[in-house]
Amino acid sequence: MKIIVLGAGVIGVSTAYYLAKRGHEVAVIDRQSGPGLETSFANGGQISAGFAEPWATPGTPFQALKWLGRSDAPLLFRLRADPALWSWSLRFLANCLPGRSRLNARRMLRVSLYSRQALAELREETAIQYDQISKGILHLYESHQEFERALKRTGLTPGLASGLDAKGCVALEPALAAAEAALAGGIHIAEDESGDAHVFTARLAEICADLGVEFRYGAAIKRIDAEGGEISGVETGKGRWSADAYVLALGSYSPLLAKPLGLRLPIYPAKGYSATITIEAPEKAPSISLTQDQLKLVYSRLGNRLRVAGTAEFTGYDDSINEPRARVIVDAALKLFPGCGDGEKAVLWAGLRPKTPDSAPIIGATKYPNLFLNTGHGTLGWTMACGSSRALADLISGGQPEIDMNGLGLERFL
Ligand SMILES: Cc1cc2nc3c(=O)[nH]c(=O)nc-3n(C[C@H](O)[C@H](O)[C@H](O)COP(=O)(O)OP(=O)(O)OC[C@H]3O[C@@H](n4cnc5c(N)ncnc54)[C@H](O)[C@@H]3O)c2cc1C
Repeated sequence: MKIIVLGAGVIGVSTAYYLAKRGHEVAVIDRQSGPGLETSFANGGQISAGFAEPWATPGTPFQALKWLGRSDAPLLFRLRADPALWSWSLRFLANCLPGRSRLNARRMLRVSLYSRQALAELREETAIQYDQISKGILHLYESHQEFERALKRTGLTPGLASGLDAKGCVALEPALAAAEAALAGGIHIAEDESGDAHVFTARLAEICADLGVEFRYGAAIKRIDAEGGEISGVETGKGRWSADAYVLALGSYSPLLAKPLGLRLPIYPAKGYSATITIEAPEKAPSISLTQDQLKLVYSRLGNRLRVAGTAEFTGYDDSINEPRARVIVDAALKLFPGCGDGEKAVLWAGLRPKTPDSAPIIGATKYPNLFLNTGHGTLGWTMACGSSRALADLISGGQPEIDMNGLGLERFL
């Protein structure tokens, strides 16, 4: 089958890889000059499968209220007259109910664990290198109450996590020595990983090209056309293209292109920041990936760089860098790992997470028999890329995905 994948982020390129492996003739369209140049460019680097938790939990509304008005808040809502934000927020609140939140966590876990396995197999198959480290992820807590709560939560993932006291955390990651006194404890998810999502996307695109996938860069998609109940083509700044089937993988921009087709995708951009610090004192920088759960910050060692990422701002499609907010994460990194590098020289970046109100991605069919969705991966698109793309490629090829796809499609929002 001839298939066009719309979007060359980590999701679109992974989709192209699995489709090409199943024998399809694949083309990928993107407005950028290369793969992975938008949200997949400088994310937190974590393959965080064993601790996948939705943003919408029973405690989130209270926490968000506490943070209201604080410019350094990990989660920042700016009140705007944007109907898409209001309707998304109402759905988000409904997903904070305990039962919904648990169900969403299980759905995320299902895709994430499968995805981590699929990534390991892809690595085996292709020998792809992307500054990956497979030493697990250590989640850190400064409050004993939060630590206890998190330990209880790991009941969702029995056997996947182990709790450590402050000394145990430092034994696992000696670069945490300066922070030991402030730590209540940590949870180590031994099977989780980290790596550079952009390098992965760029190298996988090269592998795809060797498999015959055609990449059409610099082509901004203006419109997706439908005729007789089917998608008939894609209009871009570089001309019109058509195929037998199409996969929408445009990240935060997916709902904008889907709307004229009568498809309402509840995806809203959640802006986050990252800072990349060149490591000058390797013994003072971590070699394991870490998460500060309360600050919602993640750390990954990418070769001789330390990437720290986090915060969420609901400010529409504005991807500009708010310097004071971005500096907060640089300061947090240097507080945890003093002297590891020069914060002044940190490279700041902002990206728009394609966030659904329930935090699970939207993977599967639409009312158009030849249009499929692989989008809305929010905070965990790098983690879920291989699994969601492999499952979708199986579905499109008429096979049975290896995971239960129930509750992952657009139908859950209809
Ligand atoms: C600060 C931050 C930290 C993060 N940390 C992590 C992490 O540690 N682990 C993790 O798993 N995930 C993380 N994420 C989430 C992850 O980065 C995203 O979920 C993932 O990159 C989404 O990939 P995507 O391919 O769907 O979107 P994108 O990478 O944005 O790809 C979409 C593509 O569509 C193209 N496009 C859009 N509109 C058009 C158009 N009209 N015409 C043509 N092309 C178009 C864009 O150019 C882009 O290349 C983080 C995100 C942020 C912002």
